[in-house]
Amino acid sequence: MQGWVTEHHPTRDGLTACVQCGLCLPVCPTFRLTGRETASPRGRIQAMRSVDEGQASVDAKFEEILDFCLGCRACEPVCPGMVPYGSLLEGSRAEISAQRPTAYRRLRRWVLGRVVPTPALMRILTVVLRILQRLHLIRLVPGRFRRSLSGLRPLDHAPNRVDRESDEPGGIGLLTGCIQEQWFPEVNRAAVELLRNAGHEVSIPATQTCCGALAAHDGHAEVAGRLGEANDRAFAACGTIVATVAGCSAHLVDRHGDGAADITAVIAAAIDEGRLPMLPRSGQKVVVQDPCHLRHAQKSIRPQRLILEAAGLDLVELDDAGMCCGAAGLYTILQPEASAELGRQKAGRISELGPELVASANPGCEMQLRAFLGEGYEIRHPIEMYLQALRRHG
Ligand code: SF4
Ligand code: SF4
Repeated sequence: MQGWVTEHHPTRDGLTACVQCGLCLPVCPTFRLTGRETASPRGRIQAMRSVDEGQASVDAKFEEILDFCLGCRACEPVCPGMVPYGSLLEGSRAEISAQRPTAYRRLRRWVLGRVVPTPALMRILTVVLRILQRLHLIRLVPGRFRRSLSGLRPLDHAPNRVDRESDEPGGIGLLTGCIQEQWFPEVNRAAVELLRNAGHEVSIPATQTCCGALAAHDGHAEVAGRLGEANDRAFAACGTIVATVAGCSAHLVDRHGDGAADITAVIAAAIDEGRLPMLPRSGQKVVVQDPCHLRHAQKSIRPQRLILEAAGLDLVELDDAGMCCGAAGLYTILQPEASAELGRQKAGRISELGPELVASANPGCEMQLRAFLGEGYEIRHPIEMYLQALRRHG
């Protein structure tokens, strides 16, 4: 048995922190879907321990067990042993990448390490997608990509892009996000406007790159490390790095602690301190969808609710304890059936509630919800809703 071969592997302390109590099983979406122990957090940790103790190897079975995990981290907040499941998963996937470097994994490493972080290539991809959207040809895209892409916003929004600046950075540094800046530019624009209204100095360093979250989640630790170091240099003069994508901010908070934050935390703090106003209630209802990387990874649910309340909206809560919508980074592509089932379940719960306005602070969730809710729903980031309400009130 080979055991671990890289320095990124799960730590012995992390693995032995699991006391096998099973409290995480009911909150785990993949366990709920299948009822299989190997699709539960406890079962996955046991598989990691078997490799760590030399009783099993990083083989096809291990790969299958870990690949089926969403990385939603719903298992973390309920765990009495405070098992750092997210880092155990990333370490295990780094081992799989190192020991089982299939052509598909190498292709993903290249896409996540070279294509996604290169704005020129992302712009070309965006132009292609915009043409397909305009000609109603998204339906010709291969199945597992088609469903995801059908949840895109219309891509005719180049004027909304917030361009990276070459100015000397300082104050709050905005991470524009490789996908966010191309496909959801309105969110970054709202972030800059609200941050400046709240009295923050904002900079958008020109040399920034992808945060590496997608690469880390897929097991490309060295790619994530390289991108992280590039951003350490780009944001060196900024007090706090702020991201408008929950998945990116969770990755940054894991890396920088208090030196990074999600945009919802910063805007909610400004509202709390009276630097941004609470608007009168409009009577309009909004369903709040918590991205896993806010609710579970950052344990943050209050800020987005405060922002929506400040926008004058009445909150309608989902009663599914933050069950993942199935988007989960590359999961829609890698595990299309499980992803679709979770997307259907989430959309079903939302449609039972009534309101057709849905708040989501993560672009992947937004695309998944739009793909399954279909037409008639407006799905936006909470800060976009707040800015829109501010504009209505002059
Ligand atoms: S809740 Fe924590 S300690 Fe209990 S089985 Fe799950 S991971 Fe292990
Ligand atoms: S990250 Fe999510 S899918 Fe994976 S084991 Fe934890 S709860 Fe289950």
